[in-house]
Amino acid sequence: MTKSDKKSESHEGGCLCGKVRYKTIGQPKIVGACHCRYCQLRSGSAFGVLVYFKEAFLSLEKGEVAKYRFRSESNFQWENHFCRDCGTTVFFRLEVFKGLVGVAGGTFDPPAFWYDIGAEVFTRDKADFVGCIKAKAHFSTFHYYNPKNTESPRLKGEK
Ligand SMILES: [Zn+2]
Ligand SMILES: [Zn+2]
Repeated sequence: MTKSDKKSESHEGGCLCGKVRYKTIGQPKIVGACHCRYCQLRSGSAFGVLVYFKEAFLSLEKGEVAKYRFRSESNFQWENHFCRDCGTTVFFRLEVFKGLVGVAGGTFDPPAFWYDIGAEVFTRDKADFVGCIKAKAHFSTFHYYNPKNTESPRLKGEK
């Protein structure tokens, strides 16, 4: 693929029920596989795959999303956008990645996993059954991690 092809390539995807549909243009800026507790909870899975684009390169083609906001342990705002009908988290905006919007990696239409993973992060919380993830770099937490807020004991498995 030539450079200009990569720039103009586009990908589509959406939620489980199909009411929310989006389109992305070009290559993502950042791609991460994240084992943090927030990603485990929002996805209900062992880790999240987060594919970030510049705001202008993602368009919502159809449907409406509901939003859920919270502050992470490092006191950064995190906003999940999910389908009102089926509950699939489709996008997220993180204060630490200003100007970028994240797409939930599994929501792209097949072949869903067309991108490479740049960084595997928060491996400290990685499930034992998850094997080696193909990524350019691996981090126990991530560069912005700087706990300021006391997390609910529930998130740490304490009563
Ligand atoms: Zn839906
Ligand atoms: Zn995460």
